[in-house]
Amino acid sequence: KKAEIRKSLLPLYEAISNNSSPAMKFIRSRVEKMSERWIQAGLRMKESSNNTVSTQMRVLLYPGALSGSVGQRFEAMVERGGPLGELVQWADLSACLTILGHNLIFSTSQHQLHSLIGAAPGRGSCPIQRPLTFDLIYTDYHGLAHLQGAMGLAFKHYQCRFRILDSFGTEPAFNFASYARSHGYKTLWGSWDLQPPQYMTMFPHTPDNSFLGFVSEGTVRKGSELEPVSYKKDRIAVVYGKQDYMWQGKYEYVKVISEELETHATVYQPPGHTLHLPSFIRNHGLLTQEHFQQLLRKAKLFVGLGFPYEGPAPIEAIGMGCVFIQPRFDPPHSSANNDFYKGKPTTRQISSQHPYAEEFIGKPYVWTVDVTNKSDIREAVKAILRSEVKSFTPQEFTCVGMLKRVLGYITHQNFCSKSVPTWPPKSALRVHLAPLGQSCVSVCRRSSLVCEPALFHHLNTPAAFTRLGLSCASVLPELNHLFPSYSPWGRQCGLQQEPLLFSCAGSDPSYRRLCPCKSHLTG
Ligand code: UDP
Repeated sequence: KKAEIRKSLLPLYEAISNNSSPAMKFIRSRVEKMSERWIQAGLRMKESSNNTVSTQMRVLLYPGALSGSVGQRFEAMVERGGPLGELVQWADLSACLTILGHNLIFSTSQHQLHSLIGAAPGRGSCPIQRPLTFDLIYTDYHGLAHLQGAMGLAFKHYQCRFRILDSFGTEPAFNFASYARSHGYKTLWGSWDLQPPQYMTMFPHTPDNSFLGFVSEGTVRKGSELEPVSYKKDRIAVVYGKQDYMWQGKYEYVKVISEELETHATVYQPPGHTLHLPSFIRNHGLLTQEHFQQLLRKAKLFVGLGFPYEGPAPIEAIGMGCVFIQPRFDPPHSSANNDFYKGKPTTRQISSQHPYAEEFIGKPYVWTVDVTNKSDIREAVKAILRSEVKSFTPQEFTCVGMLKRVLGYITHQNFCSKSVPTWPPKSALRVHLAPLGQSCVSVCRRSSLVCEPALFHHLNTPAAFTRLGLSCASVLPELNHLFPSYSPWGRQCGLQQEPLLFSCAGSDPSYRRLCPCKSHLTG
């Protein structure tokens, strides 16, 4: 059966109707609020791309972070300033899949998980494996462990059907367990031996994973075009930070801003506790998403404190015509020097609170500043106040953008097939030979291209070295996430022995990497 674009989200409401936890309430209210946009976007998709149809899938959504004991802790924080970014993404993914015409089961119960996919109790202590009735299972790192517990031996067999929502991303070196163990990439997360694109990220962090994203609500459309909107702005700033610990050490920075604009905040106040916010701050307490966005519509400036990292709120704020000002990190934060990133399966260097906003959006919408330099901050704020900045939403964060992307993944990504990937086609390949010490991520980006790991296998042959004019004294296959690579010392050509280790991320001063770049649509 073909998946038909739906004109209603009713099937989703039915799938989540029996759950009224705070997290599911947040998800439901977000979906309801955005339903008209989703439906309109679906209609536009239908008009424009009537030739791309996918088979209707039976999909299980299982956010492990919302179930079991982890879930209890997470739920308790939803209305107290805890992280909401994951919920934004689950809400948007579920709406997107429903509009695309797939059939969803949404579960946050470990118990229900067992009855949906678990082995049936057999005779004695020997459980009977049942065939998996889901074509796709979206979950997260917590959920993976639950799935393993419920499925037993079938876990390995069916893992090609899993998709992992993984906000910050997992690089191949951390994913391949035996390599991670022997090469110092073993972390708390990671080591599941999945195909790296099975991890789906919040932002396009690394091309080794799939960028899932979410929808920024700022989008307003006139006709079929995205039109920037000039919201009527008051001279106010909103500080990004739902809990008061995020404000530590930021007094001077916020003070400079408050001398230019009336400064608001949405910090959660625990009952019976006093907040240690500066007296010049107007705090609203944690707002519902709807009220928070009303505040952003009036505000001129959205102020990043340095934490939380890489969340959705700055994209929403820019979508509502705010300018986002944020701290530069020099030296950059990473798993090597920062408690939050410690143990995360990535070597990324985080150059500011929101590197996506810094690199892919930039001025006039995003100002990345040294927050220890008061005169720099003041000058930036004055320049921002003089500027007229309209709302901006990158295409990839609109409903249509997300629908197209997810449709692409569902149609083309098949991790159960044993053959080499055939999507994107070889014609998309632009081979680049990296300078010593550079990753394929940065080499491709420097040429306004993007690294495409599914094309690595075309470069993993002796002929690929010859075509680049490299003459090899030796050609050896090895387990090394930087391979295929050329080492000028001894003219050694290294081939990749393990497809799971093909990696756009990673660099070494002694290797020139062979990089599979491809072009892409801007935004
Ligand atoms: N948000 C909210 N009320 C507030 C502040 C933020 O509902 O008072 C919402 C906001 O609209 C955003 C979501 O919280 O969509 C996640 O925000 P953030 O970027 O802070 O990411 P997190 O760190 O929570 O994952």
